[in-house]
Amino acid sequence: VPLVVTQFLDRAVTYYGEKTAVITQTSSLTYKELFARVQQLSRGLRAEGVQKGDRVAYLAPNSLEMLEGFYGVFQLGAVMVPLNIRLKPEDYLFILNHSEAKLLFVDDELYSLIVPIKDKLTTVEKIIVHDKKKDCQETGYEEWLSRFSETAFEREEVEEDDLASLLYTSGTTGNPKGVMLTHRNNYLHALSSMHAIRVSDRDVYLHVLPMFHVNGWGAPFYYTANGATHICLKKTDPKTIFEAVAAHNVTVMHMAPTVLNSLLQYNEEYAPAIQQKLRVVIAGSAPPPAFVARVEEELGWEFLQVYGMTESSPLSTYSVIRPQCDDLPLKERYRMKAKAGFAMIGNEVRVVNEFGEEVAHDGQAIGELIVRSNGVMKGYWKNEQATMEAIQNGWLHTGDMATVDEYGNIDIVDRKKDVIISGGENISSIEVEGTLYEHSNVLEAAVVAVPHEKWGETPHAFVVKRPSSDLTEQELIDFSRSRLAHFKAITGVTFVEELPKTASGKIQKVHLRNEYWESTG
Ligand code: ATP
Ligand code: MG
Repeated sequence: VPLVVTQFLDRAVTYYGEKTAVITQTSSLTYKELFARVQQLSRGLRAEGVQKGDRVAYLAPNSLEMLEGFYGVFQLGAVMVPLNIRLKPEDYLFILNHSEAKLLFVDDELYSLIVPIKDKLTTVEKIIVHDKKKDCQETGYEEWLSRFSETAFEREEVEEDDLASLLYTSGTTGNPKGVMLTHRNNYLHALSSMHAIRVSDRDVYLHVLPMFHVNGWGAPFYYTANGATHICLKKTDPKTIFEAVAAHNVTVMHMAPTVLNSLLQYNEEYAPAIQQKLRVVIAGSAPPPAFVARVEEELGWEFLQVYGMTESSPLSTYSVIRPQCDDLPLKERYRMKAKAGFAMIGNEVRVVNEFGEEVAHDGQAIGELIVRSNGVMKGYWKNEQATMEAIQNGWLHTGDMATVDEYGNIDIVDRKKDVIISGGENISSIEVEGTLYEHSNVLEAAVVAVPHEKWGETPHAFVVKRPSSDLTEQELIDFSRSRLAHFKAITGVTFVEELPKTASGKIQKVHLRNEYWESTG
């Protein structure tokens, strides 16, 4: 049996046909009903001339339309290109032309972002508008879909190594790159993730991560394969999330730690409604132990950390608590869960020095994390050079620096590009941030390298403080000096209203460095 992701929906329809597949603000569909719409969509795509291998782009928030898009596109052997909804028109122009997308589905509320670039799109032949309300010349999705039959669509023959998804990276460190993921990548990634997360047909999955981002992208595969229920809400502010958790008995969510952080701030009002309901909340991006403790104790949710990147479908490791650690005191367990953890099934991970040799497994020696897995991309779209640099002898070079301890537990120290080099010593910006988060008046913190006459570079913090607090720069500097080796302590603070973030909630340190330069002239 070829490992193609359309099998996931087939399985759900076969065994869970009458079960609720998707709940949105306005509708609720069973798997059979979802399947019927997928058949219509595939027919529609074929009628528009989309062929196997063609790219179909989506610019949409989490929605039924996006979810059915997956399988509607895959049944044709076409390639889905989800677009980050927080980009600028020029970015869409770049990605749509670069991916040579043939068709574009766009949500009514985002259509205005496409208008300014419409004339410059070189390959897009048609734009179809989801949830069309306004008057525009484009085709409205529902009306278009209703023209096509719901009976089983005759699928294209799709091979494991055919492309399923073309995902552009977050652009945290620079321009986004197009990551080519095959059916095999998406399929086997789903199997290893559903094992790590222990997904079952009892799960109710609230989409918090955007589906256009790789983490929100990978998840629908394994929740669908297990016949779980998807809750798709266009908005994912704290109030909406808490209310949805309570109303739909949500069991699992994935989100960026920055979003989880915002939930902690609104918790008091909602705590009674949400305690005990959720099975597990999953996040990446190296949250500090103090943060893990707050999630588990204040929200009452089990926390699971995962590590991954677009280039590996994305997940490679998870912070499973191994038997050796069962008896650890709570504080140690939080420390454990703050690490990226252990390889998921189907993944091999190593931490290597600049000569490619494994570093000591002592939790101290730092090297680059490399990954070999079923999820590792076919390559970057139209960028062989970057592909050759990223994948060497089958190993994906993540660009993330890490340590590994005697149990094989991986701890991400920093991105190579974010490590601060002060007086010849490497400082992990993540470690320094972790310390700042221990201060009760710090809501959010990001630490970046800034130039220093004597030391070359020094850590500087950008901090969002608790609104009513009178926290000062000097107080925070002293706080960091009292808890960290002095060379790691921050030497300056810029208080800000908010930190610049990517659409998936990652802090964009590039922008902070620029901001620092601008503010110091
Ligand atoms: P770009 O490659 O365009 O600069 P990006 O690397 O942020 O953007 P993604 O593929 O979305 O794009 O993110 C992957 C990166 O996120 C990883 O390389 C790593 O730096 C970071 N990351 C993911 N999970 C974790 C984690 N658990 N702990 C620490 N960092 C993490
Ligand atoms: Mg990256």
